[in-house]
Amino acid sequence: MMTAEEYVASLKALKPRIFAFGEAITDVTAHPLTRCHVNSAAVTYELAQRPEFEDLMVATSHLTGKRINRFTHIHQSTDDLVRKVKMLRLLGQQTGTCFQRCVGFDGLNAVYITTYDMDRKLGTNYHERFKAFLREVQENDWMVAGSMTDPKGDRGRRPSEQADPDLYVHVVDRRPDGIVIRGAKAHQTGIVNSHYMLIMPTMALTEAERDYAVVCAVPVDAPGVLHIFGRQTNDERRLQGELDCGNCRYGIVGGEALTVLEDVFVPWERVFMCGEYQFAGQLVETFASYHRQNYGGCKGGVSDVIIGATVAMAEYNGVARASHIRDKIVEMVHLTETLYAGSIACSAEGRRTPSGAYFVDPLLANVLKQNVTRFIYEICRLAHDIAGGLIATLPSERDLRHPEIGKYVEKYFRGVADVPTEHRFRMVRLLENMTGGTALVESMHGAGSPQAQRIMIARQANLEHKKRLAERLAGIKAE
Ligand code: SF4
Ligand code: FE
Repeated sequence: MMTAEEYVASLKALKPRIFAFGEAITDVTAHPLTRCHVNSAAVTYELAQRPEFEDLMVATSHLTGKRINRFTHIHQSTDDLVRKVKMLRLLGQQTGTCFQRCVGFDGLNAVYITTYDMDRKLGTNYHERFKAFLREVQENDWMVAGSMTDPKGDRGRRPSEQADPDLYVHVVDRRPDGIVIRGAKAHQTGIVNSHYMLIMPTMALTEAERDYAVVCAVPVDAPGVLHIFGRQTNDERRLQGELDCGNCRYGIVGGEALTVLEDVFVPWERVFMCGEYQFAGQLVETFASYHRQNYGGCKGGVSDVIIGATVAMAEYNGVARASHIRDKIVEMVHLTETLYAGSIACSAEGRRTPSGAYFVDPLLANVLKQNVTRFIYEICRLAHDIAGGLIATLPSERDLRHPEIGKYVEKYFRGVADVPTEHRFRMVRLLENMTGGTALVESMHGAGSPQAQRIMIARQANLEHKKRLAERLAGIKAE
């Protein structure tokens, strides 16, 4: 397993093409826009070295019997699924943000299950090929980005009906030594500080869409790959100093980028689906349920920090003992633990797949992610309610430090007398960062938009069974 320092050094050795604010970023580990995301992902390496977290962070490879970072593991039991959730909550608490590595983790497990089923049905040989790649991921402790979401263009049209065929990633050439792919992947969490991207289709496909049915692994710095880094709320503050950032060390969400694939060559040994459109839907649904499983873990941990910051602000403001404040904080805890309970439940109710990998209960995973799209907004609303309007009106660090006006900022932004104004500054900025625009939108659309969950909930709901339960008790016999 790599240490955090080795992880950072390994990124310096890569040469991905990255643009932000119209300029190239040559070193993601040093650039102020990307450094925080590197720091956050590095915690997934750092905690795996700490004996007290070993039972969550470290697993035993079913391929080699070696100790591996859990983020490269294929779940071998429901206990593994539960430990994953506990690991994510721990990491959310430590970073207060997204640590990015789960997307590739979920992609590895979804591709493992799907290639096994695909080979059995179609007589292909993708699973062994994928296991060889997985072994390399485990041995090198690579961070893999899960690259699923296509730009999609006109959402009312199928991939093959788009005015521009590149709006979904597709195969443009098949050669004796490999394939050539073209298109782009959107909202790529952690991509600029990953080693590999695992490209997967974004939706169920038809026979006419064979060229879009492609799964493959590509180095983030392969020829033809270009990353355009996304903006985040208040990102320019990272260029201006520490205090105004909020969570300066770990940043907001996952440092997402648009990744362009301009005729990228992929050798056959890194191709795990090419034309088998029948399995695209299964892969997408498997991946989506795994990723939705996570959100009561990572967002549970992040919410723990938001609750802690809210409690601190109530104290700094001198209102901590007011009964309505205490009740609102109880509500925040209630919402957070409800999310966590959903993640634990869908894991405990997981089952073994024919491949041997364990899969979550998809109904419960989708219900929990749907709750995230609502509860995080409510948790943040309560945090804003308690912390006060200061979140929207606080002046800058430079004003606080100013030789002439600093004394007024110090004097008039103080809450209770025994808490330094700077502490109140820091806590307000942390809350602003964790409860603002970019973070909220991630809770809504990360791991799929709310309607995607409702479609899967409807499919799993088994309403006929519920109707039969009612008919039996009502004394209505089936015809
Ligand atoms: Fe992991 Fe959560 Fe970030 Fe998704 S949003 S990558 S589950 S930390
Ligand atoms: Fe996410």
